[in-house]
Amino acid sequence: MTTTDIEALLEARGALLRGHFQLASGRHADTYIEKFRILQWPDVTSKLCELVADRFRGETNLVAGPTTGGVILAYETARHLGLRSIIAERKEDGEGREFKRGFEVGPGDRVLIVDDILTTGGSVRDVIAAVRERGAEVAGIGMLVDRTGGRVDFGVPFFACLTVDIASWRPEECALCEQGVELVVT
Ligand SMILES: [Zn+2]
Repeated sequence: MTTTDIEALLEARGALLRGHFQLASGRHADTYIEKFRILQWPDVTSKLCELVADRFRGETNLVAGPTTGGVILAYETARHLGLRSIIAERKEDGEGREFKRGFEVGPGDRVLIVDDILTTGGSVRDVIAAVRERGAEVAGIGMLVDRTGGRVDFGVPFFACLTVDIASWRPEECALCEQGVELVVT
């Protein structure tokens, strides 16, 4: 699948929306990604996870994803690779993530971290820390969509099925507001 195919696929399922949106941060943008419009479809999710799996095949022995979307993506990517998939959950104090539920991960493991949308990289960094806390190595990061335009560097091999650069503005500087385009609150 080419970038154009992936973009068309996400648009067709309503996951990649164009218009005028108010983001959770309060800023306005012309593009919005509704990730569960894709994650609710096993067929499409599976195809995208196969791209991630193909990129890291032979370089990893264990896949990990953060809750919530990352759980689905890690599981499906692991299925393509014939590997185990584990979940990184928030620590009880809310600071960072950890592997609970008796998941085994430790020295010698080369963990592929998979997640849905890269915005600031916060949850991926928390999973990297959780992997290293266990003495395991991070083999790479696989994302569904990198919406930073490739600006985040985790210092390990990185792959995104789709890279988009979503510009956002303060409401008072928003050209779409000025043009009177109807605002959708996300
Ligand atoms: Zn606006």
